[in-house]
Amino acid sequence: IAIAPSQLQQQQIFLTKEQQHYLGRVLRLREGDRFIAMDGKGKSWLAQLTGEQAQLLESISVETELPVSITLMVALPKGNGFDEIVRCCTELGVTCIAPVLSDRTLLHPSPQKLERWRRIAAEAAEQSERSFVPTILEPVTFSTGLSSAISNLSLVNSQQYICVARGEFPHLKDCLQHQGQEKIVIATGPEGGWTTQEVENAIGVGFQPVSLGRRILRAVTAPVVALSLITAACEV
Ligand code: SAM
Repeated sequence: IAIAPSQLQQQQIFLTKEQQHYLGRVLRLREGDRFIAMDGKGKSWLAQLTGEQAQLLESISVETELPVSITLMVALPKGNGFDEIVRCCTELGVTCIAPVLSDRTLLHPSPQKLERWRRIAAEAAEQSERSFVPTILEPVTFSTGLSSAISNLSLVNSQQYICVARGEFPHLKDCLQHQGQEKIVIATGPEGGWTTQEVENAIGVGFQPVSLGRRILRAVTAPVVALSLITAACEV
């Protein structure tokens, strides 16, 4: 389970009602059973259930993270599609998800959505036994997202891709270089696709346009496919 710093006192975790429900009812753990607790920032412990609390037994190393940092910029899809993207991409190992509002984005989310997406990311990280919970950034316009993606790259070896559904572009799987790269930034568009101007702007700041295959994928499917290809290329 993912725990907040406020729940930790000495070697004890004070479990929330939701965590007690998850451990007792969902995982069917009983008094004295052990589980993994993590702080979502890289620290994990073996813990033992003791009533409404748990005892930290020892610090453990959980090797579930990818060797590269992946930032996914996603033009928000309509409906609850983004929930599914956050869930699946967290399972696949994404480091940061940056929701963006593009020219053809239909959804303009309420502030409560961000809280919901962060909760989904924490739950998916727990279920995948990840030691890091991905960061979910506040939605910004695509051009602001591009500028901040680029300014965060200055000192690292990075690759930046924009997935474009139509056109003759190289396949992402043929572009990925997995030697010595520290960071990958990848952008996927909304239902109506990126505008030509958006693709040109991304190329202008160093993004490479790529294809995910000959079929047109839904706005919710494309990020999951992109992450799967990156995982396959980077994981040893
Ligand atoms: N009607 C849009 C068009 O013609 O561009 C289709 C957009 S698609 C439903 C949503 C997003 O998923 C696209 O903007 C792109 O980022 C990504 N995508 C879907 N299929 C793709 C493919 N085969 N190759 C690259 N990107 C793809």
